[in-house]
Amino acid sequence: MILNDAHCHFFSTELFAALARQRLDRTPPPPPRGSLQEAMEEDVNRQLSVSICDELGWETPGSAYTLADRWVRELDTHNVARAALIASVPSDETSVAAAVAKHPGRFVGLFMLDPAVGDPVARARRALGELGLRGICLFPAMHHVPLHHDRIEQIVAVAAAHPGTAVFVHCGVLSVGVRKKLGLPSRFDLRLGDPLGVARLALAFPHVPFIIPHFGAGLFRETLMAADTCSNLYLDTSSSNGWIRYHPGLTLQSVFQQALAVVGPSRLLFGTDSSFFPRGWQQGVHEEQSRILRSLVSEADFEAIFSDNFQRLFPE
Ligand SMILES: [Zn+2]
Repeated sequence: MILNDAHCHFFSTELFAALARQRLDRTPPPPPRGSLQEAMEEDVNRQLSVSICDELGWETPGSAYTLADRWVRELDTHNVARAALIASVPSDETSVAAAVAKHPGRFVGLFMLDPAVGDPVARARRALGELGLRGICLFPAMHHVPLHHDRIEQIVAVAAAHPGTAVFVHCGVLSVGVRKKLGLPSRFDLRLGDPLGVARLALAFPHVPFIIPHFGAGLFRETLMAADTCSNLYLDTSSSNGWIRYHPGLTLQSVFQQALAVVGPSRLLFGTDSSFFPRGWQQGVHEEQSRILRSLVSEADFEAIFSDNFQRLFPE
């Protein structure tokens, strides 16, 4: 069976440099105006990334191409055919685009977009057009832009104009491990990550697939309500799903049972939420979820969740 992972983060040099700048409370540098500034900028990013990775005890990613190769070796080790890679700071589309360009058969590129900054519509157009990315990731709790804001509809309209693009919306509890480790403040407004707000958008754009990760990360009931209402809404199963401790007595097995009963196997996407090296691909998440699903679904449905649904959303 082919295994596909719908949720991995591409922790590039630019990501670590952006986090380092946030900690220094420095605003990002202005866009480079020439090749000299660009070279200097790359050099500063590399230095910032090395110092942050040293501090974390993580591997330095090097260039986007180097990191892309590292990912391919890791996926090969675990027999993973394809992975969705998320650019995880809202300025890092080009890193993931470079990875996809180098290994188009292995990666699908998604990018985090901050709707409050600059011209997000132009940014989305460039990412989905010129850069060849295939998913927009919204984090309303992080960026403090509610899902009913006009800007969000304008952004989703760009996705609608590029068939084959998914819109990923993080809902529920949000905690970003690397920010915590670096002592960066995370002033998230958890009220804004609302699955019912995603349902409203999914109804307005019925041809755009929407993905809510981690079964709604604590808003499981609302996520099921949203997915039950919208046939274009998918759930990803990624991470250790630690949110289940908010629900008395809930287990991951019962989460899968309930999701299968309401949403069915054709709209569940297996994912791990893997991100940094040397930890690498999260084999433990795969082992646990495949063990649970073996006991719950047929072989065909198992393949749908671990492979075919991803393939259908993001055909090669
Ligand atoms: Zn994630």
